[in-house]
Amino acid sequence: MGNRLSEAVFSFKTKILNSKLNQLHKNAQENLNQNSLDDLNFKRRQNLVQHAIKKSSFYAEKYKNLNLENGAILSTQDFLNLPPLTREEIKENFNKIKIQKLKSGNYRTVRTSGSTGNPLTLLHDKRHPETPIRWRILKWWNIEPWENQAFIYRYKKTKLKRLTNEIMWWPTKRVFLAAANPSQEDLNKFVTKFNRIKPTLLQGYVDVVFEFALYLLDNNIKIHPPKMVWVTSAPLFEEQREIMQKAFGAPVCDQYGNTEIMLIAAECPKQEGLHIMEDTVHIEFVDKNNNPVPPNTTGKILLTDLTNYAFPLIRYDIGDEGAYMDKKCSCGKNLPLMQNVRGRQAHNIKTPSGLTIKGDHLMVMFDGYMKHFKEIQLQQEADFSVMLNYVPRQNNKPIEKVKEMAILLEKRSRSEIKVKPKEVQKIKQVGTKKPLIVNNLK
Ligand SMILES: [Zn+2]
Repeated sequence: MGNRLSEAVFSFKTKILNSKLNQLHKNAQENLNQNSLDDLNFKRRQNLVQHAIKKSSFYAEKYKNLNLENGAILSTQDFLNLPPLTREEIKENFNKIKIQKLKSGNYRTVRTSGSTGNPLTLLHDKRHPETPIRWRILKWWNIEPWENQAFIYRYKKTKLKRLTNEIMWWPTKRVFLAAANPSQEDLNKFVTKFNRIKPTLLQGYVDVVFEFALYLLDNNIKIHPPKMVWVTSAPLFEEQREIMQKAFGAPVCDQYGNTEIMLIAAECPKQEGLHIMEDTVHIEFVDKNNNPVPPNTTGKILLTDLTNYAFPLIRYDIGDEGAYMDKKCSCGKNLPLMQNVRGRQAHNIKTPSGLTIKGDHLMVMFDGYMKHFKEIQLQQEADFSVMLNYVPRQNNKPIEKVKEMAILLEKRSRSEIKVKPKEVQKIKQVGTKKPLIVNNLK
């Protein structure tokens, strides 16, 4: 009964009160029926580049010597000739990148967490919200937008925000948990409300959702299984995924997104890779000369947001690495696949002789150990030594395990660095994230 009402109110709100969102949602669905998504994607890149050159003094200047005909890219090769956009450029040219004469209602200012030590300010285009893509992903998992949902954040929302949120979504119910040191009472309340409203979606940052999963397992608490658990904001250990699936009795959907571009790729229930939202984002995997690498080969990720006409991001070098996959998903969707993104290239361990141990390799190396910890973090100091900081699970003394991990890492560094395990209460937070590697070198 509740669901019917929720659906009816939801349809009314989107169709009548927010007909624009409804239209965007329809368009997003229709995009997928196009024979050639590649063509649509390229047309959108052409339009974006032309727009950027005309309306952003930064891009007019940056592309000045490329002799683009009428300020447009005509071929895919033209696009590959565009020099990538760096984080430093965004930091230094905010006002020049921003489109001229932008109406204040058309954009929203966002700030990245600065997990690479360098927070950025940029704009999202409110004319092209990410909601339709969010609904697309939920639909894959058989979740309707009007169904009840649960969220785990790191911070408490203000009372006003919670109230606005409740009114906006009424009668769909949403339950929130602020995961920064939740008290026993907070957790009990959350579990009770969760089991009462039976949300079909549980969403949150990887580390806090994982912590909640451990809490349920360690205390033998059962929750009503949602249809899907959606984790964001950090790479996911395979083992964390298994533990979460066990605790929640539901599949965990891995996705790729960030503050700059929120929804880039996500898994469908087949989980054969992440489907790239090719109609709204263009993603490239390139070598150090910014030329495409072959499929299944790890390359630097360059991102182009095809819907941000307020603050264009074209071939943006975000500092992540990933790979295209050379196969179609058995679900039959025509959105191409990429591999899960495991770690940022900015987060590596380095040895005195110049050897680099990548974050994603460490994630593979430590898989199999993660079940013993709430959290771990590697902190490399100026003398190259590495602190292996860990927060054990309740009633757990994983000292033998942590010693094994330290030995693995020392071996991997060809014994060039010393690794010291250290039990801590909490690992270091950088911005809103808790990175696997904190590097204090140089
Ligand atoms: Zn699929």
